Amino acid sequence: MRIVLLGAPGSGKGTQSQRLVKLLGIPQISTGDLLRAAVAAGTELGRQAKEAMDGGRLVEDSLVLNMICERLGEPDARRGFILDGFPRNLAQAQALEELLGSLGQPLDAVVRMEVDYDELVQRISGRRTCEDCGRVFNLVTSPPSGADAVCPKTGRPHRLMHRPDDNEDTVTERLRVYDEKTRPLIEFYRSRGLLRAIDAQGDVDEVTQRLTRALADLTTRPSHAGLTVRTARPSPARARRRAAAKKKKHKAAPRRAVKAKRAASRRPARKTAAARKPKRAARRAPAKRARRRRS
Ligand SMILES: [Zn+2]
Repeated sequence: MRIVLLGAPGSGKGTQSQRLVKLLGIPQISTGDLLRAAVAAGTELGRQAKEAMDGGRLVEDSLVLNMICERLGEPDARRGFILDGFPRNLAQAQALEELLGSLGQPLDAVVRMEVDYDELVQRISGRRTCEDCGRVFNLVTSPPSGADAVCPKTGRPHRLMHRPDDNEDTVTERLRVYDEKTRPLIEFYRSRGLLRAIDAQGDVDEVTQRLTRALADLTTRPSHAGLTVRTARPSPARARRRAAAKKKKHKAAPRRAVKAKRAASRRPARKTAAARKPKRAARRAPAKRARRRRS
């Protein structure tokens, strides 16, 4: 299953991504982590990224896309991935679509996590980061407690600090920028029939349930069943999931057949349109399309 989670700062995207990793057995691909890892490993891509960051510039999209492409080649990403932190704007979404298309691994779904503005402000201003281990807590929704109250780095309680980024003034500005950049993205994915929205407010476990429900039809798609066959020895948990999916597949067969038919009638049309486009025009296309939209 190949998905993108979209959510404003404070939407709980990080927490839910980690839960999906466990539930679905696919990796979370965070572009931030990829960049840091590449810089630390001193690879060619890492060197270029570091140069950009040291110069106070944004890392170029093409560089990030190369990193994603490399990461997708690793065995654990064969069954799918949860993309985190990318795309953040329309140009990146278009570039990503081109990359995934060329790899024959198009996205299955884009899930938008919806949280009210006031709640977002409250959640982010309640955020505290441990100065020793870097873990992020929230005084409102997830304060340090139980086994998590002790810092793994020091063995004492976490030393919580309020990052300047999480102050209420900066939060308002961050949310404004996020909204401005992602609104076209949402339209982009909606027009492709990929967008799904969930209510991301309330209890964390309930949000996870809504999320898995929103993705439920994807776990039983024939194409994904084919992919799991490649795994040599499934874990007992995966075997159970597969058995459950098989059962479900049986029951839901008629509706799935209709869905598959609809999807089949949609997909080739898109492919041929892309194929007809000459290469150079395709590269220039994002800018052109943006101009057309403005006029
Ligand atoms: Zn700590």
